[in-house]
Amino acid sequence: MAKDEDWWAKYDDDMAHRKKPPAGQGGHGGYGGYTTTTPYVACHETHKPLRLGDTGLEIHGGSCIRPKITDADIYIGFDAGMRFTGRHFPWTPGHELLYKIDDMHPPAEAVQFRKLVEWTAEQLASGAKVHCGCIGGHGRTGTFFAALVKHMLGVEAAIDYVREHYCKKAVETREQIDYLGKHFGVAPAAGSKEHAPKLLGAPAPKAQKPIWGAFDKGTGSGGGHKAKGGAKSSNQSVKPVQDGNSIWGKRCS
Ligand SMILES: [Zn+2]
Repeated sequence: MAKDEDWWAKYDDDMAHRKKPPAGQGGHGGYGGYTTTTPYVACHETHKPLRLGDTGLEIHGGSCIRPKITDADIYIGFDAGMRFTGRHFPWTPGHELLYKIDDMHPPAEAVQFRKLVEWTAEQLASGAKVHCGCIGGHGRTGTFFAALVKHMLGVEAAIDYVREHYCKKAVETREQIDYLGKHFGVAPAAGSKEHAPKLLGAPAPKAQKPIWGAFDKGTGSGGGHKAKGGAKSSNQSVKPVQDGNSIWGKRCS
């Protein structure tokens, strides 16, 4: 299918700029950022495509915000920050679709996710170039890849397979592993990280109120790095204290 040169032009500019930060100057940190001395290369930028056994097929994985390849026919994103191009319009060749999964978590349901796995397998078999991504290309993308490997190759140790052939960090939490076992018959494996709730902030003892009310109910998506946003949207009242340095001045009681 045709490349979308115009739509990706700005993306390419971004990437070129990012790889050549001004001398002595750092960039923004976090995902995809770089340090003040050495350009930061995120793990997902090093990902090789996952080869699917003897089928001769492969699938790309990484970030849906900064996909490593710009010439795929199909982009599948799992994070709300997915970057779209004109390709997502129905009158344009190719597909761009967002299946949202909370960071560190498994999919919230199984029917549509299985359809996504089956549909993706069909697209690959028909020769489509496919890129999947979340933020780091590990947890949610790895979960999808493991389901895909089990579906396409029948490999029960699909998590190990994806870690060996794609990235050792693939599939991040016990919840994701349990989901794969329950819905796809994937054999258990060690979690790359702790349980999802612990990463989001351990539940506060009942005697204390969590400081992020809304987030605690699971309404915050995106995971730990969004926790501050969850706190802002909390409907818990804030009682300013009397302090000369307070933004409320000394008029507070
Ligand atoms: Zn990686």
